Amino acid sequence: MALRFFNTLTQRVEEFSPVRDNTVRMYTCGPTVYSYAHIGNFRAFTFYDLLRRWLRARGFTLEHVMNITDVEDKIIRGAMAEGKTLDQYTAGYTQAFLDDCAVLRLEPPERLVRATEHIQEMARSIRELGEKGYTYRSEGSVYYRIARFPEYGKLSHKNFSGILAGARVDVDEYDKDDARDFVLWKAPKNGEPFWETEIGPGRPGWHIECSVMAIQYLGQTLDIHAGGIDLTFPHHENEIAQAEALTGQPFARFWLHTEFLLVEGQKMSKSLGNFHTLRDILGRGYQPEAVRYLLASVPYRKQLNFTFDGLKSAAAAIERLRSFKLRLETARMPAPGDPSMAARARQALAVFESALDDDLNTAEALAAVFEFVREANTRMDAGEFPSSAVPPSLALLDRFDSVFDVLRPALSQGAIGDAEIQALVAERAQAKKARDFARADQIRQQLLDQGVVLEDTKDGARWKRK
Ligand code: AMP
Ligand code: ZN
Repeated sequence: MALRFFNTLTQRVEEFSPVRDNTVRMYTCGPTVYSYAHIGNFRAFTFYDLLRRWLRARGFTLEHVMNITDVEDKIIRGAMAEGKTLDQYTAGYTQAFLDDCAVLRLEPPERLVRATEHIQEMARSIRELGEKGYTYRSEGSVYYRIARFPEYGKLSHKNFSGILAGARVDVDEYDKDDARDFVLWKAPKNGEPFWETEIGPGRPGWHIECSVMAIQYLGQTLDIHAGGIDLTFPHHENEIAQAEALTGQPFARFWLHTEFLLVEGQKMSKSLGNFHTLRDILGRGYQPEAVRYLLASVPYRKQLNFTFDGLKSAAAAIERLRSFKLRLETARMPAPGDPSMAARARQALAVFESALDDDLNTAEALAAVFEFVREANTRMDAGEFPSSAVPPSLALLDRFDSVFDVLRPALSQGAIGDAEIQALVAERAQAKKARDFARADQIRQQLLDQGVVLEDTKDGARWKRK
């Protein structure tokens, strides 16, 4: 059976193939770099990585664009509070995000694009939307008039028939169920950063950045647009309203959304304070492969409840597979003999592949691998695993690892690196500034557990290894 995905737009599982040249044009919403990403965020980014890898395994070429949101309400608040320029404020978090992605073995997209490098293009698109009658101005800001776009709501399947014409919102994020005219361009105010453009001074709203950069690099109609489930409304609904008003074409053929990572039944989020960064978790001695495995193991449309026990099970699962691989590579097996075991390995591979074809059902794919490993180990224990079954078993593990990528051990296992220490020291300084002393103490302890001692001086914290 062919590759298929659940499409939020149609609410159906549909067969997927790209529209032209065997190339998948894909846009995924990237991070807002106002602090460290937490592993809830990384659930979404890990999903993009699995998606990339499986599309490639199925013979497609990728043209994947992801944005870095480096101008937005929270960023501006943070930068102003610290007396920094936007660049100064976002550079460290952007680098930290890219470092974390590398640690989690997330493949870089073909293009990573920064919002602040596309401001003039955004202004031009806003002007064009105005010429087509989709916008209005108020006090120097420009708003999108959603009553002009009757299909508004088609992605989130909300009925907006009773919308209040003319009611509007200025903030980038809002999660109320009622639709509002949203801001495309914000007038400069109170010392906030702004750009001079053909539509006057100001800065873009969050939603316009994705539509403009996606069209600029991928064309009018994308094959896939993906993001976390919380982005469906309003962000993606607004992206569609902007893009389709600009081009008159469908913006994306497939919309894929990742469910939440939960902690004790609640969404992991900055605002609830129930989050763990990757750095925290590695600081407690867990391997990055275990985090990657845990995030990948639950199919993306199911919620994933994060626990440290779950992380331990993930580490144990990886160990089991590594031992099995070593056993295949080193144990002496009896000569060819019974062909049924080789056939079992090939069958497990077929089940693994069809599970991933089925809307990336990673749980079923893993079950196929582990069932086979259990059977094979039993046969090996009995001295009945023929050498002819070794190559197809290794082929199964290879295919598994081309997607899950957890069998190679991380290079710097155990030892905490200087960059990681500095990142934690900086985070602690920030926590202290925000009077979050519990967090500051937690970081001090975490470093101490890893043999790093902090000393507070009047010039800030100094650290040394014990
Ligand atoms: P942000 O940096 O806040 O723009 O978020 C980056 C991505 O992480 C978005 O696609 C969000 O939908 C996603 N995200 C945020 N919190 C969670 C969570 N708890 N579980 C899964 N994805 C999340
Ligand atoms: Zn977006």
